[in-house]
Amino acid sequence: MKAKLIKKTKLTKDMFLLSFKADTKFKYKAGQHIVVSFAHEGKETLRPYSFYSEPSTSPNFELLIKKYSPGIGSVYMTSLKVGDEINIVKIKGNLYLRNKRKKNIFLSTGTGVVPMVSMIRTLPNKKSELYFGCRYKEDIISFVKIKQKVSKINIVLSKPKKNWTGIKGYVQDNLIKVDKNADYYICGVPKMVMETEKKLLSKGVPLKNITIEGWEKFDKEVDLIHKFGRLNKVTNFFVNKLFKHA
Ligand SMILES: Cc1cc2nc3c(=O)[nH]c(=O)nc-3n(C[C@H](O)[C@H](O)[C@H](O)COP(=O)(O)OP(=O)(O)OC[C@H]3O[C@@H](n4cnc5c(N)ncnc54)[C@H](O)[C@@H]3O)c2cc1C
Repeated sequence: MKAKLIKKTKLTKDMFLLSFKADTKFKYKAGQHIVVSFAHEGKETLRPYSFYSEPSTSPNFELLIKKYSPGIGSVYMTSLKVGDEINIVKIKGNLYLRNKRKKNIFLSTGTGVVPMVSMIRTLPNKKSELYFGCRYKEDIISFVKIKQKVSKINIVLSKPKKNWTGIKGYVQDNLIKVDKNADYYICGVPKMVMETEKKLLSKGVPLKNITIEGWEKFDKEVDLIHKFGRLNKVTNFFVNKLFKHA
């Protein structure tokens, strides 16, 4: 499937909102991602990017991309100009809402917030809560469009300036009240994903209520867990050994 860039907006110093129109109407679940294929130094290169939009807007959709320098995929995506086309080879992902009507808690850091926004956009009530962790105040993106869809948005800064009066530290250390009956969705760097999941389990949240997605270097770890299941002791043993998680 091909999609044409129709609008590009710079949101922060390194975050870009990209609006596309695909050549055909397509289906996806809010929270899932596309896999983009492009040529880099003569080789086919693939990178996954989550939907920021909600499925009802298809064939139009949005991505939110952070630019890394150097960074092959992020530079490719953020250098696109209006009218340029991307090649989408897959739509996939385990991160999607299990029960829209329940209280859902979304725990994210950095661009891990992208699929959360997509899911939040589809919520039918205001029971849910979003946690968003980033380093600096300058990294905070606007949540105006989803403000009416959740009961609370908790922004957690790990490297705040002195005048920051909001929550400080890491998302996993600032879970204000853990509701054992809620569903939890976690997305961000794998270390945060793993630590947050551990914390929720230690507070009595059942594993079946937790859905995770981790990216960057260790996304293989989360893929393995998706594939073989987290309850499986053998998987856990090898995943912990491979990725040195205690
Ligand atoms: C399921 C899934 C969904 C994703 N959705 C999004 C999304 O919605 N928006 C988005 O911006 N990204 C998303 N990503 C991340 C994205 O796929 C790329 O990994 C990211 O754009 C960096 O790729 P790159 O080719 O630019 O970097 P590379 O060329 O692969 O790496 C360049 C350098 O940047 C470093 N680097 C790369 N990524 C990070 C990082 N996140 N933090 C710190 N250092 C880093 C690398 O260690 C390396 O040194 C997602 C990843 C997964 C697995």
